[in-house]
Parts: sequence; C-alpha cells; structure tokens
Amino acid sequence: MHYVKSKGILSANNGMNLYRGCSHGCIYCDSRSRCYHIDHAFEDIEVKENAIELLSETLRRKRKKCMIGTGSMTDPYIPLEMELEHTRKALSLIEQYGFGCTLITKSNRVLRDIDLLKKINDKTKCVVQMTLTTFDEDLCRKIEPNVSTTRERFEVLKQLRDAGIPTVVWLCPILPFINDTKENIEGILDYCREAKVYGVLCFGMGLTLREGNREYFYQQLDKHFPHLKEKYMEKYGESYGIESPKSSELMKVFHETCEQNGIVHDNDRIFAYLNTFEEKHRDKQMSLFE
Ligand code: SF4
Repeated sequence: MHYVKSKGILSANNGMNLYRGCSHGCIYCDSRSRCYHIDHAFEDIEVKENAIELLSETLRRKRKKCMIGTGSMTDPYIPLEMELEHTRKALSLIEQYGFGCTLITKSNRVLRDIDLLKKINDKTKCVVQMTLTTFDEDLCRKIEPNVSTTRERFEVLKQLRDAGIPTVVWLCPILPFINDTKENIEGILDYCREAKVYGVLCFGMGLTLREGNREYFYQQLDKHFPHLKEKYMEKYGESYGIESPKSSELMKVFHETCEQNGIVHDNDRIFAYLNTFEEKHRDKQMSLFE
C-alpha cells in the first residue's frame, strides 16, 4: 500500500475511486488494462490520502444533490478498507450532506456499513450493485480467488433486501468455455429472483481483453485451465470483444428468465435508475400539501 495526494475526487459523472489497484485477484479484471495507466503493481493499493477532505469540501460546495458512485475501477471493500475505513468515511459524508449513493462490490464486507447504507436509503437513495459471474462455488474460487464467493454474495443480497436497500446485479463477464453454460446463467438468475434484485445488467455473454488484462488472464488460464489459453488464442487472436459461441442461446435464457421473474433487464433503464437521485423525505413532505 502506498499513499498519494490527489487533486480531485469526483469525476464528471460524480463517480469516485478512493483506491487504485485491487487485491481481489479476479482473473479477468479489466482494471489491469494498460490504458488506465496504473504505474504501480496492481495489488500494491494506491490510497488517496486526502480523499475524505476532498470529498467533504466537494459535497459541501455542490449546489445540486445527486447520486455519488464508487467501485467502477477498484472494489471499495478490499481488505485494506477494514483498516482505513475510507469507504465508510465517504458514506458517512454522503449521508451527512444528503446525497444518494451507489456502489459496486463483490465483497460481503459491505455489510459492515449496512447501518450507513440504510440511513442514506431512508433519507435519499442507496443502491448496492454486486457482480455475480459463477454459480459453481469451486469455479468461483478459481476465477475470483480473494473475495466472497457467489453464495456469500447471495447472502449479502438477501440481507440488503431485508434492510430495504435496493440491489442491482452485474452478470459479467461470462468466460467462453468456462462459465458460459445455461445452468450457470439460470443458477445466478435464481439467486437474483430470490434476493429480489431490481435489475440485472448484462452486456452480452463474453468478456473484454486488451493489453494488460490479457496477459494476466492468460497466465491464470495456464494455472487453472490447462490448454485453454491456446484455444482462446486460436479463436479470438488479439480481439478486444471475446464472445461465447453460445452467446445468442444464453442471452435468450437471460432475457426470458428475467422477464418471467419481474427483473429489469434493460441496461438503459437500469442505468437511468442508478443515476436518478431521489429525495424521499421531501417527496413525503410534498405529498402532505397535494
Ligand atoms: S474486484 Fe473488480 S477491481 Fe478487484 S480484481 Fe476483481 S474485477 Fe478487478
């Protein structure tokens, strides 16, 4: 771990990354891609030492309330978070200043902050996004080795459901010849149905590979799935978009199953939902005068 001083904290879309790099070890991780210019070992987490002061100042000055997002590049609940509590402090500021929040994680450590998530959601809106890729627990441990398994994430989704906190699932990536099966998609969607998730984001049955993440992915294939690297190289070459040969069949299963179970499966609609700030107490007050 190392510290840096940062100049800004929120992106143009009100997203923030309190950390850079990640120790969860997902074999397909796109954040390893060279285009993001992470100039340190990926597991050597970079911590923005002044992130909390910057966020406090930024939220204090912001005229319009909005949803603040985190987790797109680094999981906000890496083990280091339990020590530093930057995510918790950021949530606390978001709650204090009356903003909404959405975060994406694969870790059950998010439950440490369920009190704050609930407070934000009671006042405005809080949506927890969770990635689920692999129904088979043993396979999940190979693909996403240092983070909660799919079953554990499912337990988190149910606890969030019981706390009234809405959730969205990312069903991606789907790795050709590894987890691109009907059973896998159906198993995950079954969890989503039971956990009453609002929607499932899916961008096709495949993954993306480019300079930086491709090398790591291939190393891990050699370690866990002998001879699969050669198959990928032969079939996909240097392509960025890697689509499963079963993509159409699996997308049909995905859309039909979501439709039957009342799960939103339109990506645009889900993103609109995630980006829409809602101030609940004001709505309630307004309704008194209507
Ligand atoms: S949790 Fe996300 S950022 Fe971390 S290794 Fe996995 S895919 Fe990458």
